[in-house]
Amino acid sequence: MPSMEKLNKMKTLLTNCRIVNPYGEIKFVENGSILIADGIIKEIGKIDFGVLADEVIDLKGKTVLPGMINAHAHLYSALAVGMPFPKGNPTNFTEILEQVWWILDRALDEESTKASFESGLLDHLRHGVTTVIDHHSSQNYVSGSLQLLADIAKQFGMNISSAFEMTDRNGIQTFQESLEENIRFHNTYEKSETVRPLIGLHASFTFSDESLQHIADKVKHLSNWGIHVHTAEDKVDQIDAKKRGYVSVIQRLDSLGLLNENSLVIHGIHFQPNDLEIVKESGAMLVHNPSSNANNRVGMTSSEIVETLKAGLGTDGMQGNMLAEAKEGTLIRSSHLAGGASSVNYAELLFKNNPDIATKLFNRKIGKLDPGYSADLAIFDYHPRTKFHAGNWIGHTLFGLDKPCDVMTGGQFRIRDYDFTEISEINILNNAQNQSTKLWKRMEALEGKK
Ligand SMILES: [Zn+2]
Repeated sequence: MPSMEKLNKMKTLLTNCRIVNPYGEIKFVENGSILIADGIIKEIGKIDFGVLADEVIDLKGKTVLPGMINAHAHLYSALAVGMPFPKGNPTNFTEILEQVWWILDRALDEESTKASFESGLLDHLRHGVTTVIDHHSSQNYVSGSLQLLADIAKQFGMNISSAFEMTDRNGIQTFQESLEENIRFHNTYEKSETVRPLIGLHASFTFSDESLQHIADKVKHLSNWGIHVHTAEDKVDQIDAKKRGYVSVIQRLDSLGLLNENSLVIHGIHFQPNDLEIVKESGAMLVHNPSSNANNRVGMTSSEIVETLKAGLGTDGMQGNMLAEAKEGTLIRSSHLAGGASSVNYAELLFKNNPDIATKLFNRKIGKLDPGYSADLAIFDYHPRTKFHAGNWIGHTLFGLDKPCDVMTGGQFRIRDYDFTEISEINILNNAQNQSTKLWKRMEALEGKK
């Protein structure tokens, strides 16, 4: 096998593929070719670049999509699949947090956090998702947790943005430690191409004014900083901000100078009338998470907010499959609309808005198949039962494609013929099963202590 250095310098030509690049320069090509060098897409189209390549791979008619982006993930919840239901039968958003997620994020130790990161990233990569913007919370394992995620993402060959969810709810010491973790991570990876640190805040309603002011004072000394925060997911967040004398959550964050062009505001379901304008003016980016919102029964971000702010698409920890999230978003919104009413184009959120967000955050071209973009590809062995053309790509991508057979990041195959090239899937899954059993037991003990 050639060395990494040699691999990076090699020019690889992928031929005989269907290229689906709907928001790129060349949008759709049958029997096309992609030339890759130095981890970057160099040429794309219906031309024979054979003379330029060191290696030629015939894709035999397979379908190539850009590697996808999850704009809001919680890898820490990866071991929640199949977890026992809380005994208290939560009836609202606050009770869901108190009885599920705020127990899980206190029960995570280093080993179970590692198992969550590995199995969560594996789930993303398996579905052709090559960039994950994560919002992390392990409240009793703070220092070093973001570094652990960066190390695992590197092993997987994925782009990762990470932020530790600060909050007041576990006391001043944990708050301070979380702030230090965010700042240390920021300083370590500020100039990285594949790791994008953000400053993580849980949500406005779990902070005092003093804590928010303290965060604002600290981050203003950093360069290129941005926050990653849940905003107005449930009405309780908005009610809390009003009780504290603010017009809204967004106005509270903005009044402290916490919103800027690198910031991610998540959900925005209960935005107040002026919030849209404040977010727009600040340059902050909104991320919409339809399957999680439906699951928590907190309402739905309005089409006007999603469209005006060019919202990204995230899963909020629900899954690693972005094609499924786009499909589910389409269906959830449809279920609230009258016949003939126009809806949000979720494929646009996934293939246009998410690449714009990732490109801005990572400061390099991510999420399209145009020359100059990172060679992150999801390749599907797809034999459609109807004709696939430039005009019906949404139908085929959301309702036809399954898991990719090959996934490439930075010009290197991470999955080839459905097998991971560098990691052991079986070891990761076995370890995750083992860790989840212990984690759920610790959760049960914490639940009993309430
Ligand atoms: Zn979230």
